[in-house]
Amino acid sequence: MSAGAGQYSEALAAAARHAQEWLESLPDRHVGPGAAAHDLVDVFAGPLPPQGMPAAEVVDYLALKAEPGLMAMPSGRFFGWVIGGTLPAALAADWLVSAWDQNSGLRYATPAIAAIEEAAGRWLLQLLRLPEDADVGFVTGATMANFTGMAAARWRLMADAGWDLDRDGLAGAPRIRCFVGQERHDTVDLGLRYLGLGRPAAVPADAQGRLIPAELDRMLSEGSGPAMVCLQAGNLHSGAFDPFDEAIGVARRHGAWVHIDGAFGLWAAAVPELADLVRGMELADSWGTDAHKTLNVPYDCGIAIVKDSNALRSAMGLHTSYLIHDAEGPGDPFEKVPELSRRGRGVPVWAALRSLGSDGVAAQVRGLADAAARIAAGLAAVDGIEVLNPVDYTQVSLAFGDDTTTRAVTARVIEDGKVWMSGSRWQGRDVLRVSVSNWSTDMDDVGTAVDAVTSAFAAVRTGKA
Ligand SMILES: *Cc1c(COP(=O)(O)O)cnc(C)c1O
Repeated sequence: MSAGAGQYSEALAAAARHAQEWLESLPDRHVGPGAAAHDLVDVFAGPLPPQGMPAAEVVDYLALKAEPGLMAMPSGRFFGWVIGGTLPAALAADWLVSAWDQNSGLRYATPAIAAIEEAAGRWLLQLLRLPEDADVGFVTGATMANFTGMAAARWRLMADAGWDLDRDGLAGAPRIRCFVGQERHDTVDLGLRYLGLGRPAAVPADAQGRLIPAELDRMLSEGSGPAMVCLQAGNLHSGAFDPFDEAIGVARRHGAWVHIDGAFGLWAAAVPELADLVRGMELADSWGTDAHKTLNVPYDCGIAIVKDSNALRSAMGLHTSYLIHDAEGPGDPFEKVPELSRRGRGVPVWAALRSLGSDGVAAQVRGLADAAARIAAGLAAVDGIEVLNPVDYTQVSLAFGDDTTTRAVTARVIEDGKVWMSGSRWQGRDVLRVSVSNWSTDMDDVGTAVDAVTSAFAAVRTGKA
């Protein structure tokens, strides 16, 4: 036997054992990490020894030493930022992707991955009710999904203005006017910065963070030339959705490209009862979302969706002749994303979707929103706790009187470790933010969350009295 299979088995068995132990610890463990990075650097640092270590021992060492510094992010009691867990089928499929080790840029070289990702892409378009002929690319997250959509926008707007971006670059090019809602995610600005498009104009938003279409209209009218409008499905603090119907109508009248950042909110489209939130969303030109949030696949996985496949492939394709291109319609995976070499990250998406089925996807998203509503209702009943947003989707923002008290409650909740929630600032106030994004969050976890916040608040009040 050549060096091969036998040498993997011990290390893989060790990894499976440690993974199992980690997952089994999730229902009960303190959610926050027990050690800070500065406590752990010495464990992993030091000079690299000249001698190696057997693979299984490396895995044992990692698992043992990393454990105190792990956050229970895949736990149903984790409500921080917007962070999904991992569905069993998606996690196992992700292991397979690593074992298969397919460099997934070329359809001809890795036909299985290409076929699986194309199927996943079609399922996604159906579930999210987006145009069935749109191009789908698998990227690392919503930041890159938004970047990819906006890169296609940049290419199209330049081409329509008669500017050859590929040949001449940005210097001397017509300026693209970029508009975002006041409460867009900061990574949208980052994508625009990567693209050399500068700082966008922020369109005023209403009390829940929804862009105001009349303001967009006014701002678009104040200038002329190519324009891009980036809307949002799912506000970090309120879960609110921009009014797509109206805002896209306005953008169209001004000839603007419309991109939607729907990192976690795009998934509302999979739930018939939530259809009102996303009405008109399908009329945009491009969309970015995450699979590692609401869908619950492992990091890192985002999805870029672009209707104008010519613009996307022109922006992302390589235009070289040494690669063996596939002449068929779907095109090569590398033409739709920034990377050439990459893992088959669409495979866990296929596995997640196949394990849930379309009803299961809807049930999962509906379940997250239901759990958020229950947490909000449970806490709204407590005297002194304010729920700052109508909870139509997965996000809840809470305040506890003044900022000092809210910050103290947040610190207390995190220290107690029964649940984990983020402190944040929203509309000039400190808030405790709850995001329900984990498929495994159940009614027990909802109860735990309500109890944890209620008792942290009581403790802070007592301490002050
Ligand atoms: C998380 C998030 C992003 C960024 O996504 P990453 O996956 O972290 O790159 C962008 N927009 C919104 C609304 C988000 O919630």
